[in-house]
Amino acid sequence: MLTIENLHAEVDGANGRTAILKGLSLEIAAGEIHAIMGPNGAGKSTLAHVLGGKPGYHVTGGSVTFRGQNLFDLDPHERAATGLFLGFQYPVEIPGVSNVQFLREAANSQRKYRGEEPLSGGEFLKLAKEKAALLKMDVEMLKRQVNVGFSGGEKKRAEMVQMGILDPAFAVLDETDSGLDIDALRVVGDGINAIMRQKDGAPDKAVLLITHYQRLLEVVKPDKVSVLAGGRIVQTGGPELALRLEAEGYDAVMADA
Ligand code: ADP
Ligand code: MG
Repeated sequence: MLTIENLHAEVDGANGRTAILKGLSLEIAAGEIHAIMGPNGAGKSTLAHVLGGKPGYHVTGGSVTFRGQNLFDLDPHERAATGLFLGFQYPVEIPGVSNVQFLREAANSQRKYRGEEPLSGGEFLKLAKEKAALLKMDVEMLKRQVNVGFSGGEKKRAEMVQMGILDPAFAVLDETDSGLDIDALRVVGDGINAIMRQKDGAPDKAVLLITHYQRLLEVVKPDKVSVLAGGRIVQTGGPELALRLEAEGYDAVMADA
């Protein structure tokens, strides 16, 4: 699904560019839920932004192959239409645009890029209602402006409704658990499982789940856990690695690596 090899990236700052990713390599197979954990400032969000193609981030070395294509040959909207979904640590508000308008426009632009027929108003609303119900979100909220006045937890829930509607092959979720209370965490975690887990047949989806905490991983059970520190992956293991990190801290686990 995604192969990252020796990725180096810099970010624009007030005093010029700063190198953040320093030789990051990671492979995520179809069917896999791969959790990335790591200390604050390690470069987790930077990795998400580089994969999404956010302006201000510069790739200075290495490669990323996504579904057989060079990811960096694609503009952000092309990456999205090719099946990449990015969930933000800090979702943005878009005043003046309703969720319904935004999501229908997004879904239909992607369909157009892939040569599929657009969804009619009725078809779209049916889909949106179904996905909102999955995330236990009031359909009325879909009529409101994107994220405007939403609580932290509501923004994360709305983002998972977005993901359900766009139905991506690969999702990068950056601290989707932040700002969620324990009930919302379960709803969102169940939502991720429902949208991104293989139901039958050949695996065709994968998730890169960036999180600080074990608690989301109790609901969305990862196949692999990697530690990102100092701009590279320093350790990869199974779900037990997340438990160890939570119990012992990054310093202790990395000292053993
Ligand atoms: P994480 O998500 O792992 O906590 P980030 O990827 O957000 O870490 O940040 C990695 C490092 O890059 C941090 O030291 C952060 O201060 C720095 N950084 C991120 N964005 C910028 C920016 N726009 N200008 C300068 N430094 C930045
Ligand atoms: Mg971050």
